[in-house]
Amino acid sequence: MIQSVRGTKDILPDDIHLWNFVEGVFKKISSSYGYSELRTPIFEKTEVFVRSIGEETDIVNKEMYSFLDRSNESITLRPEGTAPLVRAVIQNSLIQQSNLLRLWYYGPFFRYERPQKGRQRQFHQYGAECIGSEYPESDAEIISLACDILKGIGIKNFKVLINSLGNNESRDKYREELIAYLSNHLSELSEDSRRRFEKNPLRVLDSKDEKDIELTNSAPSILDFLDKESIEHFEGVKNILTKLDIDFTVHPKLVRGLDYYNHTVFEFQSSELGAQDSIGGGGRYNQLFTEFGAKQTPAVGFAFGVERLIIILEKIIEKDKLVQKPDIFIVSGLNPDDDYYLSLVKKLRNLNLKVITDLNRRSFKAQMKESNRVGAKFALLLGEDEKNSNNITLKRLEDGFQQTISFGSIENFIFDNK
Ligand code: AMP
Repeated sequence: MIQSVRGTKDILPDDIHLWNFVEGVFKKISSSYGYSELRTPIFEKTEVFVRSIGEETDIVNKEMYSFLDRSNESITLRPEGTAPLVRAVIQNSLIQQSNLLRLWYYGPFFRYERPQKGRQRQFHQYGAECIGSEYPESDAEIISLACDILKGIGIKNFKVLINSLGNNESRDKYREELIAYLSNHLSELSEDSRRRFEKNPLRVLDSKDEKDIELTNSAPSILDFLDKESIEHFEGVKNILTKLDIDFTVHPKLVRGLDYYNHTVFEFQSSELGAQDSIGGGGRYNQLFTEFGAKQTPAVGFAFGVERLIIILEKIIEKDKLVQKPDIFIVSGLNPDDDYYLSLVKKLRNLNLKVITDLNRRSFKAQMKESNRVGAKFALLLGEDEKNSNNITLKRLEDGFQQTISFGSIENFIFDNK
């Protein structure tokens, strides 16, 4: 048997209700904040990601699905959503049409990572980007939107960690100081962190290695290097979050993996997830537009990993509650091409009812059993008697209440007895 590719998963009918539910929440809450959906292609020119995410990041270095197409162009399956969205905004001159864009996206993403619980090679992200405001209220709006989505899904137990990387000057000053500190401890760092130190020293702060964590706990804090502008911005964000009753923790070691962040960075964590406890995160990226050769445009955004939202949702919801059971199962003794039978099925479906029929020519008794198995609200019993009198018999399966009614009064009966 040919199996699916390692790190990919089928979403089966039994689970699709969970997915439909979270997708509904994404749409509803994004729209209540005035965000519009933007869909980009699943693949882009490789350059889109190399330029934006940064050559020295794990994503670009180790995780991209890149290939040469038939005309020798390097193409990459998108590993994240911000860079393609920014590419689309610039290419379609969206920012010229409106000086503030509120956008969201949802779909599959691809990273060649070691698969484990909550980590796949094809996974899904929902993300939102607020483009065109440099002010802290836009950072706060994005964080508030993210929190409302988690609450809309029913997730209450989550942590919001925030930090500031400051503007470029503050970040550069800190970077030098951190390099100085780490160079005195190089031999004590893990191999991974030594590599990171060479290429992207801030990422040493991200290390999950215990010894690294201990060492970086005594490293200089970025918060001591923020200049006046950076402090004002960060204070502005925290002030609004406090007033919105959003519980957050300042975590000075939070830097996030991507190169393009400055000022606010944040992450959402859930203890329900185990080792991969990050539900998602994001930050401000005022320089990204210039990497694409466009005018400098301030922006802030975040992304959630949807598989991880689903893992949490499964723990807090009874899956059955999300399943829309059939309204009617037709238990028929008539021929499958009988006019009365077919016109009845058509009529019921036109009423927007969920109607199931037998396709295996099973006995009346077997059909009755099936109507219970699928959890239908009503069994509609149909035989020669009903056909000849232009009637049907409806049986409410919950309590066995049964009545024979005329073909014309089906609609009223169903809605009165649901
Ligand atoms: P990032 O784009 O790396 O900031 O990731 C944002 C979120 O996407 C993470 O917090 C995860 O929830 C999710 N995510 C990232 N990579 C994967 C993956 N390989 N499999 C499943 N979820 C992922």
